[in-house]
Parts: sequence; structure tokens; C-alpha cells
Amino acid sequence: MDAKKVTAIVTRAVPYGDTDMILTLVSIEEGKLTVTAKSCLKPKAKLRYATEPMNFGEYMLAGKPERLVLADCNQIDSFSPITLDIEKYYASALILEGLQKLSLESNPALFMHSIEVLKGMAYEGKGAEEGVTDFLLYALSDNGYQVDFVTCGSCGCIIEDDAVFSDKDGIVCSHCREYKGIVIDSISRKYISGEDRQIPAQLKTKANMVLADIISQVLGLKIGKHYFTEFI
Ligand SMILES: [Zn+2]
Repeated sequence: MDAKKVTAIVTRAVPYGDTDMILTLVSIEEGKLTVTAKSCLKPKAKLRYATEPMNFGEYMLAGKPERLVLADCNQIDSFSPITLDIEKYYASALILEGLQKLSLESNPALFMHSIEVLKGMAYEGKGAEEGVTDFLLYALSDNGYQVDFVTCGSCGCIIEDDAVFSDKDGIVCSHCREYKGIVIDSISRKYISGEDRQIPAQLKTKANMVLADIISQVLGLKIGKHYFTEFI
């Protein structure tokens, strides 16, 4: 039997048969992996913790590449305080979903940034909405899109009010806007750029939806559909 060790986080876990689980892991080394955790739903299964979504650790995997089996796990963190706060829990679900979708190949920068955001929410008082904002900004930058929310990508002015995003010029001021593009209201823009993060939670979520729209346009990827549904 082949065996290997990866540093990974569980992004999805689905029961299979009577006592098995099918895990989706995102690893630093190889990106997304599908792994069977045998007998882990039995009452005394010692690796049950290793199958929980958001468990982060060193995973020892056996079997062939197309049929990987969980052999052992050294837990690094479970970010358990997140599960005590429903808003943070939903935010973490969005982060795990986004990380998984953006890790079809290894994406080490986004992996480490996701861990950093989960840590911030679990132990450092980072709010759920800010956690999502940080993750979405990393999703853009770690995939090669350095979006500047302060300077107009066309005339170079410092944007003071609303802005518009287009593929061609990035963020532009209201004078340079063309017919098409994603409108970013001034409160959302100042929040995303960090100029003013002291706004109500609902407005933070609205800004996050704008960011998710931009990601959808540049990366062709829907993130957080379930997360945002209740706000529409
Ligand atoms: Zn301009």
C-alpha cells in the first residue's frame, strides 16, 4: 500500500454506507482530495474528530491516488470556538466552500490565508462578516487579481463616492464608468478598502455580496450562494 502525508483541512464530510464517511480535504500539497474514512461512524472510532468539517491537521493517507483511505491524523486545530457562534459558523462554511472550489490544484497561499481567517474568527475576535470579507479579498489576490478599491483604474483619481468594477479597468470612478459593470456603492467601497470598517453588520454583508459578484465575474465561480440567500 502506498502512503502519504498531507497538511489539510476537511471542507466536506458525507456519510457513506453504515459507518464510513467520504471526506473532501483541501491540502497544501495537492489541493482537493477525496478520502474514505472507514468505520469512523462506529461508536468508539478513534479518528472521528479527523472527519469533522474544519478539522485541520496532518493527514496520513493510504491506498491508491484514486481510492485514498484515511489512515491517521495529527490534529493541529479544530477552530472549535467558531461552532459556538452561528454567524461565524456560516461564515466558516462559506470559507471552506470557497477554498475547496479554488483548490482544484494546490493553492498554498489561499490555504494559509484561509487558516489565518479561521484563526482570527476563533481566537482573535474577528467578526463573521469581516472574516468573509478577508477571505473574499484573499480569493481575488491569491488568484492574481490585485483589485485596488481606492484609485480609479482609468483616470487615476482617488475615488470618493460610488465606483464601478469592470474586467477591463478594474475599479473605476463614477466619471469613468461605462455602461456595463458591477456598481459598488460608496459605503461598501470604503468598507472593502478598509477606509471605514465601522458599519452595521448588514451593510458589511451587502459589501461581501458585491465582492462575491466581482469574484464570480473574474474567476467564473459562485461563492456563498447559500450564505447570501437570506439577505436577498
Ligand atoms: Zn476615473
